[in-house]
Amino acid sequence: MKRIGVLTSGGDSPGMNAAIRAVVRKAIYHDIEVYGIYYGYAGLIAGDIKKMELGSVGDIIHRGGTMLYTARCEEFKTLEGQQKGIEQLKKFGIEGLVVIGGDGSFRGAQKLTEHGFPTIGVPGTIDNDIPGTDFTIGFDTALNTVIDAIDKIRDTATSHERTYVIEVMGRHAGDLALWAGLADGAETILIPEAEHDFDDIMYKLKRGQERGKKHSIIIIAEGVGSGIDFAQRLREETNTENRVTVLGHIQRGGSPTGADRVLASRLGAKAVDLLLEGKEGVTVGIQQNKLVYHDINEILANQHTIDLDMYTLSQELSI
Ligand code: ADP
Repeated sequence: MKRIGVLTSGGDSPGMNAAIRAVVRKAIYHDIEVYGIYYGYAGLIAGDIKKMELGSVGDIIHRGGTMLYTARCEEFKTLEGQQKGIEQLKKFGIEGLVVIGGDGSFRGAQKLTEHGFPTIGVPGTIDNDIPGTDFTIGFDTALNTVIDAIDKIRDTATSHERTYVIEVMGRHAGDLALWAGLADGAETILIPEAEHDFDDIMYKLKRGQERGKKHSIIIIAEGVGSGIDFAQRLREETNTENRVTVLGHIQRGGSPTGADRVLASRLGAKAVDLLLEGKEGVTVGIQQNKLVYHDINEILANQHTIDLDMYTLSQELSI
């Protein structure tokens, strides 16, 4: 293999730049040419492809977002779109591709592999919802952004002795809510992977107030439903005040944490190694601090699971 390509696709996440840098530098280290494909699969179809040099990825390791930009591309879900993409790859002499993104992006990578084009997936999403890896690139940064926001809300919650409902991202996964809730000592954490009883939540709030708690923090994962709706129901049923904050897209941005930069560097470099070993149709990951790879079909057929022991612990610690 003499020339490879790299793209970022779907939702961006902090650390994607560090992953791009690792792919580019590791390829050049091995005397392989590397081409950056801009705007994900949309740019692949359009041929928005440029050669990357060592300097192309200078000064990006600490930046959020993705220097290759990202896009969502409906056309790539069609056979015609995929064939156009492969034609562009051939036109540029690219023999292997690294796709950095979430599970949607991996479906695109799976299609390329099915059509005989060697592709490796690198998990980049704040949601931590990809099977085959303990952590995805961007999760740790988003977690720390959420913790910082909740710390600030906690100050005002204490001052005003109020209940705060905070909605966090994560799509169908509760990881961000669970980790943030545990890290922030939230009274209640609502995640899609666990059943909730509204009466229990109300009882817990009341008991906390009775023992003199100054405030309550309730974290709700977006996969459970709207924080605004939940707060309204709580107001109506308890006849008490509360405030709601939907953290939104601040969770996707910002300078990646050390953990995300290191993870992105390791996974990006591993993807290049695997391509050079002749692997294709696999995704890279980290499990028990070891770099691993799995068949992309297996990854896409499986469901991400959450550590429910951590959920139980969060309940035990917030009695
Ligand atoms: P993420 O990668 O963050 O999960 P999306 O689900 O939006 O984001 O997927 C990103 C892009 O991946 C889509 O816009 C599309 O171009 C491509 N993609 C998603 N699903 C498929 C599919 N089934 N076949 C081919 N390409 C797909």
